[in-house]
Amino acid sequence: MKCPKCGGALKSVQVEKVAIDQCPACTGLWVDGREMMGLLQLSGKTLAKLYGATKKVSGGAGSCPRCEDGTPLMKLPNPALSDQMSDTCPNCTGLWLEGSDLAKMKAKYGEGEDLSV
Ligand SMILES: [Zn+2]
Ligand SMILES: [Zn+2]
Repeated sequence: MKCPKCGGALKSVQVEKVAIDQCPACTGLWVDGREMMGLLQLSGKTLAKLYGATKKVSGGAGSCPRCEDGTPLMKLPNPALSDQMSDTCPNCTGLWLEGSDLAKMKAKYGEGEDLSV
């Protein structure tokens, strides 16, 4: 799968019980819709590890790395963050997350150390 932001090759990462795909180049994260709830169950510490590695990349939303027809990602409400829009594939419900998204998820669900940089 290719990174929707920078075109780098995504690498599969297993984080506890959650399978995610991370771009080694820009360190954004692709999360399948069904993996999203699992991601929310990770501890704040585990989220912090992912967040710490995530850089902000500018540019358009790009297209879905999962769908073969390259469905364009749309800004849709994040199911975990009601006040936050995330790049979402309307076809497979996968989500592209950046550091700022993880920081907000952590603030809402996590506990433990401060993630501010
Ligand atoms: Zn990338
Ligand atoms: Zn898709």
